[in-house]
Amino acid sequence: MASAASPQFLRGVPASPGISMGRVFLLDSEEITITRRHIAPEQIPQEIARFEEALIQTRQEILDIQRRIGQELGGEHAEIFNAHLLVLEDRALIEEVIARLKSDQLAVECIFFDVLKRYVRAFSRVEDEYLRERTSDIEDVGKRILRHLLGQRRPSLAELSEPVIIVAYDLSPSDTATMHRRHVIGFVTDIGGRTSHTAIMAKSLEIPAVVGLEDVTQRIASDDFLIVDGTTGVVVVNPDEATRQSYEALRARLEAIGQALLQLKDLPAQTKDGRRVHLAANIELPEEVPAILAHGAEGIGLYRTEFFYLNRSDLPTEDEQFEAYRRVVQEMAPYPVIIRTLDLGGDKFASTLKTPREMNPFLGWRAIRFCLARPDVFKVQLRAILRASTFGTTKLMYPLISSVDEVRQANQLLEEAKEELRTHGVPYDPEMEVGAMIEVPSAALTCDIIAQEVRFFSIGTNDLIQYALAVDRVNEKIAYLYEPAHPAVLRLVKAIVEAGHAARIWVGMCGEMAGEPALALLLLGLELDEFSTSPVNVPRIKQVIRAVTMEQARRVAARALTLKTSKEVEDFATAQLRELLGGLAS
Ligand code: PEP
Ligand code: MG
Repeated sequence: MASAASPQFLRGVPASPGISMGRVFLLDSEEITITRRHIAPEQIPQEIARFEEALIQTRQEILDIQRRIGQELGGEHAEIFNAHLLVLEDRALIEEVIARLKSDQLAVECIFFDVLKRYVRAFSRVEDEYLRERTSDIEDVGKRILRHLLGQRRPSLAELSEPVIIVAYDLSPSDTATMHRRHVIGFVTDIGGRTSHTAIMAKSLEIPAVVGLEDVTQRIASDDFLIVDGTTGVVVVNPDEATRQSYEALRARLEAIGQALLQLKDLPAQTKDGRRVHLAANIELPEEVPAILAHGAEGIGLYRTEFFYLNRSDLPTEDEQFEAYRRVVQEMAPYPVIIRTLDLGGDKFASTLKTPREMNPFLGWRAIRFCLARPDVFKVQLRAILRASTFGTTKLMYPLISSVDEVRQANQLLEEAKEELRTHGVPYDPEMEVGAMIEVPSAALTCDIIAQEVRFFSIGTNDLIQYALAVDRVNEKIAYLYEPAHPAVLRLVKAIVEAGHAARIWVGMCGEMAGEPALALLLLGLELDEFSTSPVNVPRIKQVIRAVTMEQARRVAARALTLKTSKEVEDFATAQLRELLGGLAS
């Protein structure tokens, strides 16, 4: 644990840019210690009453959180807590505690702690994925009950009343849902890489974050003060006055730059010699549309729809999805919105879909593979997207394509969905463009074939890098090997753009690489047509595009392709960008 006198500098993976400073809120890392305490037989009724009271208080606590989240974020986010409420009604668990109180004559928290441990162990071993996923619900509720029994109360993320920096092992989708619009000014986690879903969520919420710090939850205490530098990946624990002031100055500078960049908001993403590039942004939730427009993006290049399926106990209906897509499409009109079909699996799972546990989920039953196997689920989404397509410019793209067969099969299901709508007289845009994400090396190498079946490509570098370099995108231990500027990645991107253009289709990129200024310069030189990135990155990328000519960008790309290592490419592109931006560089 750090003391105020000794600032510590920790280095992790930069996940979401910006600097924030504040007190720590340690999430779920404090261990609950139970002291073994015997009771006399006449105390048993009193212990049972204490247990019942703790159950009532826990129920009330969960209902309060559920109500608050429901009001702020909508019903679907609050539904996850239904599973927690069900745990409280588990008669077998309650009866076992009462029976053991009588037989063991120990304080109720000791008994409950034991029973809980046994339950958690049993649930974590069952075959059924759905039941196994209930383990975390049981643990979560169990901890709440224990805290009530011990008279300890800890505010939850939903109850925060002052700005804090969350320190956690990882953040679950329910954590991130509760965090939204709360007093969370930063977060740091033990695990994760820069394209893990936690990192992507932090970026879309515009919260500075550093992930993959390995043991940060062990090194930081609840009353510590932190500086989180999400731009460089540094976390300072209990900074001294001089460090604090220098970060204050840096923050003020970054904010001034951010404000200055926003002046570009209404200017076109156009090179000095007039080449117009399409600059769009990525979103996870419909509520993010205003941020997209505020940052001057001209469309949505990736609408990740899987968040719809998370944090809930049922599947989203066609109408519900249609309403969300319609809203986004309408609010963005006349700009285009590319809706990506469901990409579950990898590091995002929906408990309702009962997918099996896999050894290698990123190589497993994920995205389009899952959708083609479950046309019942897929077609609901396809119809919803088609219905939304008449409200603005809608495009659709398939994730994780690894061969042309998958595109053909998906297109076949899309045709069936259209037919179903036609039968019921429901309108859709017959001209809606359909594209493929190119994020698997086999697709990258057969782009010329795939291009025959689609109207555009969007390069998903978050996955393309992990598959091409064999580096798990969420594993902090090998984060240093996750290199967007690796010569293999550059060659793949070049090949994809060229194959797309040869087939006369446009090629964009919606992976995080498109949001890195020095690499964006290089991508521009590779003739990429569209850049889609987190809204916060949009002004910076626009600045790069507007500062150069195509000739300059092409020269940078050509030279970068001759370099041998990722470091050489990065250093070269960064130096070139600095030179080209001149006085505009930060
Ligand atoms: C990608 O893989 O680059 C991408 C944009 O998709 P996701 O991060 O959702 O996998
Ligand atoms: Mg992907």
